[in-house]
Amino acid sequence: MKLLFLDQTGKSGGAELCLLDIATAYQNSCLVGLFEDGDFRQRLEQRKIPVQVLAEKAIAVRKSSGAIAGLLSLGQLLPLIHRVAGLSREYDAIYGNTQKALVVGAIASTLSRRPLIYHLHDILSPAHFSRANRRIAVWMANQARLVIANSKASRAAFIEAGGNPALVEVVYNGFEPEAYAVEVETNELRSSLGLTGRFIVGHFSRLSPWKGQHVLIEALQYCDETVSAVFVGDALFGEQAYVQQLQQQVQQLGLRDRVKFLGFREDVIPLMKLCDVVAHTSIAAEPFGRVIVESMLCGRPTIAAASGAAVELIDPGVTGWLTQSGDAKALAGAIESCRKFPTEAAQIAAFAQQQACQNFQLTQTNAQIHQHLQNRLSPVNYVEKAN
Ligand code: UDP
Repeated sequence: MKLLFLDQTGKSGGAELCLLDIATAYQNSCLVGLFEDGDFRQRLEQRKIPVQVLAEKAIAVRKSSGAIAGLLSLGQLLPLIHRVAGLSREYDAIYGNTQKALVVGAIASTLSRRPLIYHLHDILSPAHFSRANRRIAVWMANQARLVIANSKASRAAFIEAGGNPALVEVVYNGFEPEAYAVEVETNELRSSLGLTGRFIVGHFSRLSPWKGQHVLIEALQYCDETVSAVFVGDALFGEQAYVQQLQQQVQQLGLRDRVKFLGFREDVIPLMKLCDVVAHTSIAAEPFGRVIVESMLCGRPTIAAASGAAVELIDPGVTGWLTQSGDAKALAGAIESCRKFPTEAAQIAAFAQQQACQNFQLTQTNAQIHQHLQNRLSPVNYVEKAN
């Protein structure tokens, strides 16, 4: 099967890391087209996946942009759409991995008469997208042959926003559990970060208001003095005002000695293994939350905000802890119970690791995606379904 994958960013967010694993399975028969250059291109090249940067300039529209900004960007999109339409004639399908990729892919697919696949990594709700953007996304996605939703939560939001339920299949992100099972010597890393003797709560997400890093900083004041927070991740999409807000919050609460910002890191696994607990604090519904599964695979006690897909990934009290989104005191309570009852926390984390190894295998994910693609792209099935 020959696939033309499209992704709007050159940065490695969760949707891109998911695409990296999917495209690896098609590396001899695919092309990944990016709308901007960045470290994601290098990661694709390292895996020997053919990649091209297709746009001259990044597209200006944001998730919160209205209809006018969208229309104005059309002029910028036309050469890109033309290029994608031309390229797609060499492929069996166009596979849009992000919202702008969906828009470009949908118009190009009409021009080139190639089927469109959309991998939905977002919750299409007012908390994440403007009304205009939701309408455009749903209208375009309804032209697709298949919509792969990364969770039941994203599927539900898509349908609620007017998406056609018959198009959607839920496929969770997949992981290679062996990569997370490695033994890591953490003492040296602890000491190099000045964290020896501390109870470490790790947070692994890009810095963005909806990822709720401020909730963990607020929670720290209700935790024991020995508890430190380590933030791994950077402002990938220009959220500099939020970065400043976090630094001010740390200053105002007198927590400078207890908070570390490490920026974007590629060594997520050793850093997670270093943590006594991993906290996930999104204040808007999380579409999937790769870091939740990664923490479970690392065998770390995992506390997540109870919204979106987090409630599909964690069974509270069995494979982790769920606290209400934005509730800093409840988060502090869960951190403190892991600190005070380490044996119980370790037992839950060990069971979560076992469950995550079974339920989030990359081989399963890739097999499911391949099967759905075959079902929906095969001309026989398509004609039968249409009738
Ligand atoms: N990540 C990373 N380095 C960092 C912070 C995060 O490689 O400094 C990875 C993290 O391990 C996860 C992904 O980025 O695989 C984030 O995916 P998630 O679904 O949690 O959030 P998204 O960014 O897609 O909203």
